Amino acid sequence: LASQARISYLAERDALTGLMNRAAFMDHLSAAIERSCESAGQLALVFVDLNDFKRVNDSLGHLEGDRVLVTVAERLQACLRATDQVARFGGDEFVVLLEEVQGQEDVVPVLQALLRIVEVPVETLGRSVSVTPSIGIAMYPEHGSTAEVLMQHADTAMYEAKAIGGKEWQFFRPAMAASAFADLIIEGQLRDALARHEFELFFQPQIDPTSDRLVGAEALLRWRHPERGLLAPDAFIAVAERNPLMLPLSEWVLREAAKHAKQWRTHSGLSVPVAVNLSQMQFRLEGFAATVHQVLVDLDMPGSWLQLELTERMLMNDVQTAIETLTELRAMGVSIAVDDFGTGHTALAHLIQLPVDKLKIDQSFVSGLPHEPGPVAVAHAILKMAHGLGFRVCAEGVRSSAQAQCLKDWGCDELQGEWIALPMSSHDFQDWALGRGGDHHG
Ligand code: C2E
Ligand code: CA
Ligand code: CA
Repeated sequence: LASQARISYLAERDALTGLMNRAAFMDHLSAAIERSCESAGQLALVFVDLNDFKRVNDSLGHLEGDRVLVTVAERLQACLRATDQVARFGGDEFVVLLEEVQGQEDVVPVLQALLRIVEVPVETLGRSVSVTPSIGIAMYPEHGSTAEVLMQHADTAMYEAKAIGGKEWQFFRPAMAASAFADLIIEGQLRDALARHEFELFFQPQIDPTSDRLVGAEALLRWRHPERGLLAPDAFIAVAERNPLMLPLSEWVLREAAKHAKQWRTHSGLSVPVAVNLSQMQFRLEGFAATVHQVLVDLDMPGSWLQLELTERMLMNDVQTAIETLTELRAMGVSIAVDDFGTGHTALAHLIQLPVDKLKIDQSFVSGLPHEPGPVAVAHAILKMAHGLGFRVCAEGVRSSAQAQCLKDWGCDELQGEWIALPMSSHDFQDWALGRGGDHHG
């Protein structure tokens, strides 16, 4: 009988922390729901996920990582009542069930205590490590009537908390499920969209404010959705970026943009380089420079007709590899722009090392011109610094003549935004460019 008890203990417990495991907890949760149903009480299901725990494991090793998890488990248990139940769902995920609560107000002090205690640094290998949790809560019966639905909603709320920056909690709200659900639908449809030729590129001109010449066009992705009409990237790019589909899609964008740049030349004598936004996945892929080379060879065009836009984050992830790839690309004549400049955390020391040609001042600064002191100071400083380092500067999101004038006075090299033109189809772009004259030769 003793060994029987031991077997059932092992089947229900997490080996590392001795807490309930997932299967046992789900049974416990279902039973608690039945009890509450009879007593008309409320439950709070609290999902706790540690932020950046992978970093703890990577830097201290798994043994020390395990020690931190055991400490967190002990602390969670210590700050709960006897009727509450903690479980570990594997990895750095813990769940807590609070029974007999009267409402969300009742849960908040428990959450505050959880946060306080989990965040106390853990001493390990003579170093102190702090871990912060992200917490999502679903209430029974308000947010669901089964164990599965409650778990799913607590998980969704936890992701929302993490997205906001961690170290916080979020109670589930139905709107969260709607957006998670919408993402799922988009993800399913994205898979077929490429094969069905539903993607399209729009082009937004970039001009030199001094000569008024057209100096480039940024290719911007659009999805001609069969039911929802023309979608801008906001509606789908974040979902696509989490999906392996982003790779073939990104390669399609590169090739398609290059094709248009070539067509403009051969059909209309328009010599306009095209700028392509790269995805994180695409840039980090081994052999990316070779892919670009292949596109240029296939289309028989020089690299100088192509410009690639990368965000600071993409460059800073792995500076050494980024430098190597950029150097290869520039050797082909391709130019490089840093997108949304000013919003990331580019260390200036790295910026000096990077083989780039152009910085694009983020729209958030441009929109504050010409009067708001903060944006004025930042935009002006970026321009002076960039020029000092020998980079060109493009200001994006220019919406008024006052903004254009101020940027021109500061010597900004290129302007892009609705004051010049909104993004348009390739055909409209060609008409627009030919209509203003002066930019074509041929
Ligand atoms: P981004 O690279 O910063 O592109 C500039 C965005 O600002 C574009 O939005 C453009 O239409 C918009 N914009 C520029 N000037 C103005 C203006 O004066 N007024 C207004 N209302 N909007 C202006 P869009 O096309 O919605 O693209 C949003 C973002 O999606 C892009 O931001 C880029 O990060 C991403 N994206 C677009 N196309 C691609 C693509 O082919 N591949 C990848 N990986 N990302 C893309
Ligand atoms: Ca861009
Ligand atoms: Ca931008």
